[in-house]
Amino acid sequence: MENTCKERIELVKGDITTLDADAIVNAANNSLLGGGGVDRAIHKAAGPELYAECLTLDGCETGEAKITKGYNLKARHIIHTVGPIWHGGKRNETDLLASCYKSSLELAKSNNIDTIAFPGISTGAYRFPKDLAALIAINETKRFLKNNSSPSKVIFVAFDDESYEIYRKLLCQ
Ligand code: ADP
Repeated sequence: MENTCKERIELVKGDITTLDADAIVNAANNSLLGGGGVDRAIHKAAGPELYAECLTLDGCETGEAKITKGYNLKARHIIHTVGPIWHGGKRNETDLLASCYKSSLELAKSNNIDTIAFPGISTGAYRFPKDLAALIAINETKRFLKNNSSPSKVIFVAFDDESYEIYRKLLCQ
């Protein structure tokens, strides 16, 4: 099972907006109406129709996820999830981050999404420690893949060398 899971997980370095996956995941905020970092990059690449659809969604709770079309992206869908802001670890941050991955994967499954790409949710402006965030991302994803045949592939997108190395080491253990 361990091997099966690893075969279904890929690590790439770069800009998630350029990926040719069925869905890319956005590290959004509670309003779902755009922010900085990867959220800004996704809105810029997808175009103004994405903002218009997000206006209809009534926001999103931390740890949950909502889906939109991908518009000008190669990806057909965007799954918007809201990670926790890191406050030192005593405000349920780890469970909330795990919930982001689980909710996103569940949405992917129910929308017949075969390949899904994740950025490092909460590891930018929300200051979640990168190594702990990567561990949670990988563990939660492996757990989901073990119990579900869809999505068939999960891609982790590292935006910088440091994140890439953190994921690489954890995935090769
Ligand atoms: P959050 O508010 O959830 O912390 P950020 O967008 O600030 O979200 O950062 C989340 C992660 O996404 C960070 O590790 C950041 O380096 C990364 N990131 C920023 N832009 C991109 C991009 N275009 N593609 C992939 N990852 C990105």
